[in-house]
Amino acid sequence: MNIAKSVSLFQQAKTLMPGGVSSPVRAFRAVGGQPLFIDRGEGPYLIDVDGNRYIDYVLSWGPLILGHAQPQVVRALQEAAAKGSSFGAPSPLEIELAELIRTFIPRIEMMRFVNSGTEAVMSALRLARAYTGRDKVIKFVGNYHGHADMLLVKAGSGVATLGLPDSPGVPAATVSNTLLAHYNDLDSVEQLFDEHKGQIAAVIVEPVAGNMGMIPPLPAFLPGLRQLTSAHDALLVFDEVMTGFRVHPGGAQTLYAIQPDITTLGKVIGGGLPVGAYGGRREIMEMVAPAGPVYQAGTLSGNPLAMTAGIATLKQLQSPAAWEHFERVGSRLLAGLQDAARAAGVPIQVQRLGSMFGMFFSAEAVSDWDTASGADSRRFAAYFQQMLAQGVYLAPSQFESGFLSTVHTEVEIDQTVAAAANAFAHLATESAG
Ligand SMILES: *Cc1c(COP(=O)(O)O)cnc(C)c1O
Repeated sequence: MNIAKSVSLFQQAKTLMPGGVSSPVRAFRAVGGQPLFIDRGEGPYLIDVDGNRYIDYVLSWGPLILGHAQPQVVRALQEAAAKGSSFGAPSPLEIELAELIRTFIPRIEMMRFVNSGTEAVMSALRLARAYTGRDKVIKFVGNYHGHADMLLVKAGSGVATLGLPDSPGVPAATVSNTLLAHYNDLDSVEQLFDEHKGQIAAVIVEPVAGNMGMIPPLPAFLPGLRQLTSAHDALLVFDEVMTGFRVHPGGAQTLYAIQPDITTLGKVIGGGLPVGAYGGRREIMEMVAPAGPVYQAGTLSGNPLAMTAGIATLKQLQSPAAWEHFERVGSRLLAGLQDAARAAGVPIQVQRLGSMFGMFFSAEAVSDWDTASGADSRRFAAYFQQMLAQGVYLAPSQFESGFLSTVHTEVEIDQTVAAAANAFAHLATESAG
């Protein structure tokens, strides 16, 4: 594989941007090698600047559920761009996207559009604190909610449990109101409610964890969170920035029939343009300015291009055929990976819900950060490189989810499974030798 142009661009990029990238995981640090510079996307494929073609399971980290440059989305964007890229004033497009979102997720009675998932979560927690008049928030180790200061505590190390920040530059005081519990462990949540009686504004959770690899909730977990938050007059915030329109048309809250108080969205609802949203019960949302006192604003929020891409994307997800497609190609991919790994004698754990999937190199079931971080990262790095060399582009970390689109067909799935069979066989001989 010739990547000469990517190599040269990366050298140049490193002189201009920290690590040569605009977001850290793109740098391939966890798997070695260097990032590929991309020229274009076509349906399920990415094509790099050297002309190499890859089946893409990253899909811009989730948003591109219809694949790259989907013709209807492109056409809608061209027409919208010709009418102006931002008005700084309301447009009918915001109403159209909001109506669509509420049709899919009726619990989101009202919403506010923002420009990223980070912004959605940050604003949702400000609102939860204002609504309850309390300061503390419970989050789960290994859940990611964007890079806002107060949420940059997560790693499973000993310091994390003391509520110390994960990143320099985050004041300890900022995270002192962030309490850490363990995913899929209700006792750890109950204990925090007992220790901080009357002080906890909200529990925020990825209802299906997708940022420590993919880890579905155990059956009692989400109902237990709903029950505990209600009993303590705290709000339940579902961060569905990743799971929204991925695990089910109505998000994880519909899949598991749980009603959160506030939901955050992003990724898919922008169809590949920068968008986030937070929403929930009318009575809570009417606290947001200018209806209420909780300030939150954005120069480009609700801009016509992002709204247009979101509308064009969600309309196509109204078709049951899209969801039947995810079941069909998704189960084919998982069965293929499981069979290939078994044949090679390589233990893996795979999970899938709708168009989101994950794989760990682990013989043990994975249910939280501790078990996830026990998975074999060296094996993953070798697997990643083997797959890339065979034209399959996976997220460059085991602790990320994989994504399918409506244009990943049986052809791409079968090529991927064949590549995985080769990669597993290679891993098996490597560990034998
Ligand atoms: C991606 C993600 C975010 C952050 O969204 P950005 O648009 O990257 O700011 C927040 N929460 C979850 C669950 C995510 O997956």
